[in-house]
Amino acid sequence: MKKILIIGGGVIGLSIAYEISKNNRFKVLLVEKNKNFGLEASSKNSEVIHSGVYYKNNSLKANLCVQGKKMIYGFCKKNKISFKNTQKLFIGNSLQDYKLIKQMYKNAKKNDVNDVKIIAERTLKKIEPNIKAKHALLSKSAGIFDVNDFMRKLFTLCKKNGVKFIYNKKISYGYFENQKIYFSNIKKQKFDYVINAAGVGAIGIAEKSFKNTVFPSDKLVTGLYFKTRENLKIRRIIYPAMKPEKNTERVDITPTINNEYIFGPSVEKKGKINLRNSKLKFAKFLKQINSKLDTKKIKYFKKGIRPKIKTNSKSYTDFYIKKVDKYNWINLFGMESPGLTSCLAIAKYVKRNFLR
Ligand SMILES: Cc1cc2nc3c(=O)[nH]c(=O)nc-3n(C[C@H](O)[C@H](O)[C@H](O)COP(=O)(O)OP(=O)(O)OC[C@H]3O[C@@H](n4cnc5c(N)ncnc54)[C@H](O)[C@@H]3O)c2cc1C
Repeated sequence: MKKILIIGGGVIGLSIAYEISKNNRFKVLLVEKNKNFGLEASSKNSEVIHSGVYYKNNSLKANLCVQGKKMIYGFCKKNKISFKNTQKLFIGNSLQDYKLIKQMYKNAKKNDVNDVKIIAERTLKKIEPNIKAKHALLSKSAGIFDVNDFMRKLFTLCKKNGVKFIYNKKISYGYFENQKIYFSNIKKQKFDYVINAAGVGAIGIAEKSFKNTVFPSDKLVTGLYFKTRENLKIRRIIYPAMKPEKNTERVDITPTINNEYIFGPSVEKKGKINLRNSKLKFAKFLKQINSKLDTKKIKYFKKGIRPKIKTNSKSYTDFYIKKVDKYNWINLFGMESPGLTSCLAIAKYVKRNFLR
C-alpha cells in the first residue's frame, strides 16, 4: 500500500485525508504543528459558502468553488452540519457600481453560476428592508456553514478510514532517497507521496526541501473581523459591488450561524494593523447602507492570515496546486478564499490529478 504524508491539518489537509482514505488504497499520515487540527486560517474566516461570481473564468478558483459549494451543501445535509443558504447581495449606488454589477452578472454566467439576478431598488427594499442601495446583484447559492463542526466531522471520518494523526510536530523539510521521501523528525518512516497543505507554512517547507527550485513567494495579508450581537435584521450576506477577478479591499457584512453579524475581513499589510481605522471603515459602510447600529456595539472579534502569493513580484491570484517536477510531492500554495468552499473539490482534484 502506498504511504502518503499530509502536512497540515487545516480544512484542506483534512479534506484530502478524507478523500484519499475512502477506498483503502493509501496509508495516510497527517502531521500538524499545533495541538489540534483547524486552529489557523480554517477557523479564522467568514465561513461563507461562496457561489463563484467574481473569480476569473476557467481558473481553479472558479471551477473548484462552483463544484465545491454543491459538495459542501451536500456534505452538511448528509452529516447534519449547521448551514444556511442565506444568499448574497452585491450592492452599490453609483453608475460605476451598476456597471460593475453588470460585469459580475456576465462573469457569473461564464462561471456557470446561473442563479444570479440583477435587482432594482424596489425589489431590494422588499427583500432586505434594512439595506439602502440603488443597485444590487442577488446570488442565490451563497450561504454560511459551521466550519468547526465541519472539520470535526471530517476528522471523525478520517479516523474511521484509518488516517493516523500526529500533533505538535512541526515539519521542517523532506529529503529523497531511492524514490522515497523522508523527514528528519518522523523517524523510521518513508513516504511515496507528500501533500504539502501547510497553509502559510507551505512555501517555507517546499523551499527547504528543494533548494534549487524556484517557488512563488508569500505576500501575506491579515484580515481583521469585528462583530455585533445586535439584530441588524439583515438576512443575506452583503458585499459592495466589485470588479470581477479583482479581490480589492471591501467591507462585508455576514450573518453567522449563531445569529450574530461579522464585519470584515479588512486588508492589513504586515505590521500595519490598526484596529481603530478598520473599525471606522466598517462603521462608515454601515452608515452608507443606512444602518442605525451604534458603533459602540461593534467589537473586535478575530483575525486571519490570507496566504496570498506572488511569482516574479506579480500577484498570483489563483490557487497554486502543483507537483514538483519528477517528485511525488504536491504543493498547495495561495489557498486563500474560496478555499473553504472549494476544499472537498480540491481534495478530489488532488486525488484525480496527482495520485496513482
Ligand atoms: C480572513 C479570511 C477569510 C476567509 N473567508 C473565507 C470564506 O468566507 N469562504 C471561503 O471559502 N474561504 C475563506 N477563506 C479561505 C479559507 O479560510 C482558506 O482557504 C482555508 O482555511 C485554507 O485551509 P488550509 O488547510 O490550506 O490552511 P490552514 O487552516 O492554515 O491549515 C494549515 C495547517 O498547516 C499547519 N502547519 C503549518 N506549518 C506546518 C509545519 N511546518 N508542520 C506541520 N504543520 C504545519 C498549520 O498549523 C495549519 O493547521 C478565508 C481566509 C481568511 C484568512
